[in-house]
Amino acid sequence: MGDQGSGHEQAPAARREPTDAFAAEPADAGESVFHARGLTKVYRMGEVRVQALRGVDLDLYRGEFVVLLGPSGSGKSTLLNILGGLDVPTEGTVRYEDHDLTVLDDAALTRYRREHVGFVFQFYNLIPSLTARENVALVTEIAEHPLAPEEALRLVGLGERLDHFPAQLSGGEQQRVAIARAIAKRPDVLLCDEPTGALDVKTGIVVLEAIADVNRELGTTAVVITHNADIAQIADRVIRLMDGRIAGIERNAVKKAPRDLVW
Ligand code: ADP
Ligand code: MG
Repeated sequence: MGDQGSGHEQAPAARREPTDAFAAEPADAGESVFHARGLTKVYRMGEVRVQALRGVDLDLYRGEFVVLLGPSGSGKSTLLNILGGLDVPTEGTVRYEDHDLTVLDDAALTRYRREHVGFVFQFYNLIPSLTARENVALVTEIAEHPLAPEEALRLVGLGERLDHFPAQLSGGEQQRVAIARAIAKRPDVLLCDEPTGALDVKTGIVVLEAIADVNRELGTTAVVITHNADIAQIADRVIRLMDGRIAGIERNAVKKAPRDLVW
């Protein structure tokens, strides 16, 4: 973990053969940014009790690109929301760098999200009356060291669409505006919950390219949820969830570019 290697200039890609299924802490993985132990989550709705997580231990390393894979209902969103400070576990601990997220109150969790985390969801949630540039600027106005909105939009390939309104953009373009909005504050972590879930294959690949570019160019630690196993090939590491538990963690010996995916 933190004391293994320099942890700063590591290129997490393609340096190891696939390891055994539970190699959660590969020797050369660099600095752990997230450290989660014994996470459980129980949702109660009246009499009904749903156990979404059943004891998850997980480390995520700085700058890596992780795909979180698993069937619907396996707990992917619950885990991502806990990492992002949108939800809290029933039991267990999550540390983000020096912050123990499980002891923070609501105000401190909000500050954690604002300072460190960018979210991308399946539905883009853009403001229809604002242009692409203005949607991104909403975030950069309140961030401390933001990218210029134009720069964030250029990074996702939308430098030519700055003054388009959401209704004048395709679904894939709208999702890329949402990615630009998420990264404009230069978050340390980009958490994406089924970012391609509403898109056709070709458009989905362009969106994944945008996320991969951000990961590579800004060094943003990226987690992408999907239930499409093919997408796992673009990750440094693939974490499989099954029924609220980690069913396996693999490191890709070779990482594919999204554009080289064959569906
Ligand atoms: P996934 O993202 O892998 O589809 P989720 O994390 O959304 O899975 O859900 C895991 C389980 O927890 C599911 O059975 C789901 O119905 C349940 N669940 C998720 N969120 C809530 C909630 N807010 N209230 C009650 N049950 C929930
Ligand atoms: Mg989900």
